[in-house]
Amino acid sequence: MSSEVVELLQDLVRTPSVNPMGRDVSGDIYLEHRMTARLEQWFETLGVPWKRYTVMPDRDNIAAVFHGAPDAPIIVLEAHQDTVPIDGMIIEPFDPVIEGGKMFGRGSCDIKGGMACMMTAFKRLVENPPENPPTVMMACSVNEEFGMAGAENLCHFWQPGEHSLVEREPTCVIVAEPTLLNVVVAHKGVARFHVYVDGVACHSSQPELGHNAIYRMSRIIDLFEEYATEVVPTLGEHPRCGKPTLSVGMISGGISVNTVPDFCQIEIDRRVLPEEEPRDAFNHITEYISGKLQELYPEWADDVRFSDDPNLKYGLTDSFNGPLASSLQSIIQSMAIDCELMGVPYGTDAKAFSRAGIQTVVLGPGSIDQAHTKDEWVEIDQLEMAVEVYWNAINQLPAQL
Ligand SMILES: [Zn+2]
Repeated sequence: MSSEVVELLQDLVRTPSVNPMGRDVSGDIYLEHRMTARLEQWFETLGVPWKRYTVMPDRDNIAAVFHGAPDAPIIVLEAHQDTVPIDGMIIEPFDPVIEGGKMFGRGSCDIKGGMACMMTAFKRLVENPPENPPTVMMACSVNEEFGMAGAENLCHFWQPGEHSLVEREPTCVIVAEPTLLNVVVAHKGVARFHVYVDGVACHSSQPELGHNAIYRMSRIIDLFEEYATEVVPTLGEHPRCGKPTLSVGMISGGISVNTVPDFCQIEIDRRVLPEEEPRDAFNHITEYISGKLQELYPEWADDVRFSDDPNLKYGLTDSFNGPLASSLQSIIQSMAIDCELMGVPYGTDAKAFSRAGIQTVVLGPGSIDQAHTKDEWVEIDQLEMAVEVYWNAINQLPAQL
């Protein structure tokens, strides 16, 4: 079986765009520039205006626009160009094999599948516009999987300036991620940071002459566990996203087994609620841990430091995207597809647009369970349905949300 969206997705899967995820790696599968070139060529062939915006070297956002009726809404369809790495995969990552109603390959599910569906609906709009069509922008960001810097720069496509494609702010943004065609209205954000502790190094044959930084860190980790289990669950709850969480995810320290270590560091992941300020969450932790350390270990409490520059990401709030979400839900339910309004634990590009005050939801084909996996795949049925969902959204979303 083959259809337009299937062939397009095969083409996108064959075009590697692996995010290095902060690692020092190079090679012809890394970064998004091959995808961006492919998209540029596709928009050019379709005959629509497009623009690129360089976020980092070899990493350009690209967007194209179909101009609708003057008073019609501006709908942005957004998908990220990058995929996670291919380490440990048990299938050919860039050979889009179709078997048993599924297409395999890196990005097939997250989120080249969703991108191909959006592009197919966009192409249908360009070639056969309905009466009074909306303006639709197809926007493709870079670096979603590691930092989400691309989404924060997409606003250049609707703000005045040389990259502007539309004359005013969009009415709404639909972000593609694998949601099984449910509408994700809220997700958590995150505060990530390091904790460092110093000690005094000496030969391990005379450990009494030094101060072991790893022992010190083990005390700090106990405090984090206490904070994670006793304090964090009391810091609020969201009806769709549950409670905030904290996890100590990384540890390193020491230079050799025969040296008492003078340094140890850990890295923390604190998931914040959709409306929680990540900076406040970070400050709350540092005050709690510092206070406990001063009380319990005053002799070395001052040797403990926290990241100066924590990585803070907001969540997606459902405080004002209700009209978009319920319109989409009725459109999807009228197609006899199950559709719930949901909160999810993972982060997406959506929060960048929501933070800018634009009604934004996440909606796409495939399940997040297949994203990032060693045999990543997406169901062809999901792709075919998603094309119709996006097409109906373009045609049926009300002009005023
Ligand atoms: Zn994704």
